[in-house]
Amino acid sequence: ATMKDWKEFDRSKVYMADLESGLHYLLRVELASHHTLEGEELVAFKDFVTVVAKLFPGRQPVVKLLETLLEWLTSLPLEKIPYDAILDLVNNKMRISGLYLTDHVQWVSCQGSSMTLRGYPCSLWTLFHILTAQAAQRPDALANTGLFYDPQAVLQTMRRYITTFFGCQECGKHFEAMAKESMNSVKSLDEAVLWLWRKHNQVNSRLAGAMSEDPVFPKTQWPTPDLCPTCHEEQNGLHVWKEDMVQVFLKKHYSAANISPKYSS
Ligand code: FAD
Repeated sequence: ATMKDWKEFDRSKVYMADLESGLHYLLRVELASHHTLEGEELVAFKDFVTVVAKLFPGRQPVVKLLETLLEWLTSLPLEKIPYDAILDLVNNKMRISGLYLTDHVQWVSCQGSSMTLRGYPCSLWTLFHILTAQAAQRPDALANTGLFYDPQAVLQTMRRYITTFFGCQECGKHFEAMAKESMNSVKSLDEAVLWLWRKHNQVNSRLAGAMSEDPVFPKTQWPTPDLCPTCHEEQNGLHVWKEDMVQVFLKKHYSAANISPKYSS
């Protein structure tokens, strides 16, 4: 983005424009490289749509679009779904009933200082933080789906999505290694929120100073003290996280009430 397109935003907020842009990119660009979905891919995609349709605190037409997509996917007796059928549903069938998802990207808190930086991966992290926080706030939301009462439901769905579809395969490998190590030990919906936060910070520290880092958005251990002063503590001269405070902060930061509609057209 050039300075001309720069969008002012508040770092203490989450932007609906980033989340909708991310969903647009996922459904219309990332998935498009898979001509047909079958087997593991189909399971990964169905679980993803289930979790997003049930937990994403989005605008009504977008949530309805996701619910319609889910109904369609679950009603199909097919073992194989051509990607074109999904695209046709998202683009054409739904538009007739006014269910519309933006057809271009508009990054706000995920905007980068150049076209190749930030954007989609940033929105995907944001989406999954929102989903783990929503699952912890509304534990009944996944009732009547195969994912109910599983404290790892959102994390395992993210894991399958990332390893199956995420365009950055290197990222998928790294994430799978972290998942294998400790995702199975997550015992509650609250722990799932913290697990994702901890792993995201681990990724931030690995990537600090790397080529993929946007100089305007250096990788930090997040939330920084200005965003959450009570999350930090010093013990014997060493920094420690106050995880109970981090938990409270994450649930608030990634809550529906903290999503700004600004810039979402
Ligand atoms: P991001 O890391 O994308 O974070 C987005 C926003 O989330 C931040 O602006 C901040 O508001 C918030 N945030 C930051 N840290 C946390 C936290 N700990 N908890 C909650 N919220 C937080 N890139 C690589 O080059 N190599 C990799 O191996 C790699 N692996 C990835 C694995 C996954 C699963 C994903 C989704 C992305 C991966 N990426 C990888 C991309 C990389 O992590 C960043 O998304 C990308 O570099 C853009 O960074 P960013 O500055 O927008 O911040």
